[in-house]
Amino acid sequence: MAFQLNAEKCVGCGACAYVCLYNAAGAANDVASVYTIDEKKCVECGQCSRICPNSAITAPDGWRKIKKVTIIAEKCKGCTLCRRICAADAPFGEVKQPFTIDQNKCFQCGACAQKCRFDAIQVEYV
Ligand code: SF4
Ligand code: SF4
Ligand code: SF4
Repeated sequence: MAFQLNAEKCVGCGACAYVCLYNAAGAANDVASVYTIDEKKCVECGQCSRICPNSAITAPDGWRKIKKVTIIAEKCKGCTLCRRICAADAPFGEVKQPFTIDQNKCFQCGACAQKCRFDAIQVEYV
């Protein structure tokens, strides 16, 4: 799933591309007056939807806003995957030791929880 951009409502301002830290939102072509969202790159953080001035971007069915993301120390293997994929550089720790998420950096996108192979990342929803 991914956030959906309604081309008929898009005014081409580029705000979505500006805020998307995963490079999922971008111009449809070189002379773009319309933007698109790459479903393969979108992590469903919702930043683009919040900033779009014309409400052109909507959440997929069943999407829920995340309140907090934390790592369960007992499950974490310190594999570093979350740190490598996080666009905010929020997870930190020593390799093969339990990691922690810097809550001052985390913007609750949920990408790390989707990727952790050890089910070590807990997501709380609003
Ligand atoms: S929901 Fe997040 S990752 Fe997806 S396009 Fe919007 S800003 Fe980018
Ligand atoms: S991806 Fe999962 S197991 Fe790996 S360091 Fe992050 S929380 Fe720990
Ligand atoms: S939920 Fe937080 S720690 Fe996890 S990838 Fe997103 S910004 Fe990084």
